[in-house]
Amino acid sequence: MPYWNERIECMTRQDIEQLQLENLQATLNRVYKNVRHYRKVFRKVDFMPEDLQSVEDIRKLPFITRRDLSRNYPYDMFAVPLREVVRLHTASFNFDDPVVIGFTENDIRSWAELMARNLTAVGVGKDDVVQIALTFGIITGPFGVQGGAEKIGASVIPISAGRLYQQVKIMRDFRSTTLVSTPTVALGLARAMEEMNVDPNSLALKHGLFGSEPWSENTRSDLESRLHVTATDTYGLTEIFGPGVAWECPEKNGLHISEDHFIAEVIDPETLEPLPPGEQGELVLTTIAKEAFPLIRLRTGDMTRIDYSPCACGRTHCRISRIFKRTDEVIVVKGTSITPEQVGQAIARVSGGQPNFQLVITREEDADQLLVMVEISDINFFDEMKKQRRFVEWLHREISETLGWEVAVRLVEPGTFDPQKRVRDERRFI
Ligand SMILES: [Zn+2]
Repeated sequence: MPYWNERIECMTRQDIEQLQLENLQATLNRVYKNVRHYRKVFRKVDFMPEDLQSVEDIRKLPFITRRDLSRNYPYDMFAVPLREVVRLHTASFNFDDPVVIGFTENDIRSWAELMARNLTAVGVGKDDVVQIALTFGIITGPFGVQGGAEKIGASVIPISAGRLYQQVKIMRDFRSTTLVSTPTVALGLARAMEEMNVDPNSLALKHGLFGSEPWSENTRSDLESRLHVTATDTYGLTEIFGPGVAWECPEKNGLHISEDHFIAEVIDPETLEPLPPGEQGELVLTTIAKEAFPLIRLRTGDMTRIDYSPCACGRTHCRISRIFKRTDEVIVVKGTSITPEQVGQAIARVSGGQPNFQLVITREEDADQLLVMVEISDINFFDEMKKQRRFVEWLHREISETLGWEVAVRLVEPGTFDPQKRVRDERRFI
C-alpha cells in the first residue's frame, strides 16, 4: 500500500491529537495577534489562546461563515503581511460577497503535500501522466493538483477544462494515465470519445480523480465503465484549498481528512451543537497549518458524517462520507458554489426591487443547467412584449455575468412556485 508520508498518514490517534493541539495552539496565537476579527470574537466569548487545554476546547470558539470572510475583504483576514503572500485567489465569481485567499510559500507547499498524498494513495506515481482538466484561473482549483503531481514526479498536462475533442486527442497522443476533472467534464469526455470512436482500451488511462461538485455511486460506475478508470472522489473548498482537503483511498469508503492540517467537526446546522461520529450534519473545518489565511471553525455548508474507525488502507486520519448536498445557503452548480442571495442581488439590480424567484437546477446530458424563474409582479410587469423581452434579456445577462456562466431566465405567473422555496434541485446524485 503506497503512502506519500507514512509517518504522518499512519500515526496513532494519540499522536494525531497531540500534533493537533500544538498546531491549533500556534494558529490561535497567530490569529489573535494578527487578525482583528478573531481578536474581537475571542474576546467576546472571553477566550484567550492560552485557555486552550485540549482540542475539544475549540468548541468554545464561535463559528466563522463565508459572510464574515467577505466582510473583511480584501485583506483583513490575512494573518501575515502582504509581503509574505506569494499567491492570491478568489473563492468564486461572486463579486457581491467577494473573498480573497492568500497563500504564503509554505501554504503552497502544504497544498502540494496534500495532493501528493491523495495522488499516491490512488496509485499515481513518477511514471504517470496527469491530465488536469479543471479550470485554471483566479479561483483556487487545479494549482494544488499540479503542485502535488509535480512533487511526486508525475508529468503534468495543465490543459484546463473545455475543448473536449482536443482533450481526447491529447489524452490519446500524450498517453495520459490520470484524469483530474469534475465528474461533469469526465462524462463529457466519455461522450466525446464515443463520438470520435476512440476505444478506451486503446488509451493509457487508469486513474480518475473527480471532485468540485456532488456526484453519485451511479456516476462512479458510469465513469469507470466508460473511461476504464478507477474513479475516486476528492473534496476541496475554495476558501481553504482546491481539491486535496479530503480524498478517497482505494477502499472508496469515505474521504480521509489530513488531520495534521485540519480539525474536522460535524454540527447540527439548526442548533449548532456538535454531533457524535456517525451522525449526519454540517462539516466545520479549522485549518491548523495555514499561514496566510487560517480559518477557525469555518461552516462549510456541506452535509456529511465523520468516521474515526480504522481504515483498511492503514491510514489513521478520520474519514468523512461523500458529500451529496449542502445546507440550503450554498449550492454547487457546474462545480461552482452559488447562493440564492447572489442571484437575488442580480435580479434586484435589474428590476430595482425584489420579486420572488426560484432557482431550478437540473442535469441534462451530464451537464448542470440552471433556470431562474422570476415571478411577474408590479415591479416587472410590462404591457409591451418588446419591453418584457428586453427585461428578460437584461436579467439573463446580469445573472449570467454574476455567476460566470450562462443561465436560462423565465418570467412566470404568480403561484407557479412556492416563494418560500428558493432552490429546487432536481439533480439526482444517488
Ligand atoms: Zn483509507
